[in-house]
Amino acid sequence: MTTRVEQDRHCFCSPGACVAPAPRKLAAGRNEGRCVPRRVWWLRTKNSSGRRVSISFKTELEARTAAAKLEAARILGQDYQPRAAVKTVPPFAKVAEEAVKLYGQLHTQQPSTTANREWFLRSYLLPRLGDRPMMAEHFNELSIMRLIAELRGVLSDTSLGNGLGALRMILDHAVRLGLLSSNPMRASGKLWKAEPRPEVDPFSSSEIRAIVRAAAAAASAASRAAGPASAAGLPSAAADRTAGSCRVR
Ligand SMILES: [Zn+2]
Repeated sequence: MTTRVEQDRHCFCSPGACVAPAPRKLAAGRNEGRCVPRRVWWLRTKNSSGRRVSISFKTELEARTAAAKLEAARILGQDYQPRAAVKTVPPFAKVAEEAVKLYGQLHTQQPSTTANREWFLRSYLLPRLGDRPMMAEHFNELSIMRLIAELRGVLSDTSLGNGLGALRMILDHAVRLGLLSSNPMRASGKLWKAEPRPEVDPFSSSEIRAIVRAAAAAASAASRAAGPASAAGLPSAAADRTAGSCRVR
């Protein structure tokens, strides 16, 4: 029965740059976890039913004190369950789930808007951010800028711009939960600039008048060419002035 204290392997990693030492030998069937930096110390032990448990502590001293108490209790034949001193920070996925649900309950949305947000969340945000603890260490201006830069490589700016609305809404929720002190997507400076959308030049009022005149002239020329509907052997319904159209066969 081993109890050991160790610093989180990914403690000094930053998003995208894993500097973790190689893992200790893993038990058969266990995979190396993905890089999620946590500034914690782990107390690895087994609980009374023999299951492996890891308990996190903010400092090495706290972890070693808990380990010593555990050892003392074992010698005395008592059951001692150390309590983690670190409050569990919910991961992005959990915050996102509640944020989306609450937003849907409070806002009437177009089904297409809901579907688009859901698609962006499931396809792009959750795979990248899902298990990251919602804290400023992982969700700050720099990490969001890196995320946007990465997503610009795979999405059009229009899709990205729409999708980022969902991320901003989720981060707003994290602020409300007290997990972030501010929303990094509401920073003073813009984090990115979308490529301008190709827009149709709006017509000026004189252009619109010219177009209407040209359309009216074309319509009357067409109706003159077709002659009265009856003369052309067409039922009179073929010439429908109110709909502004004239069917000519
Ligand atoms: Zn790492």
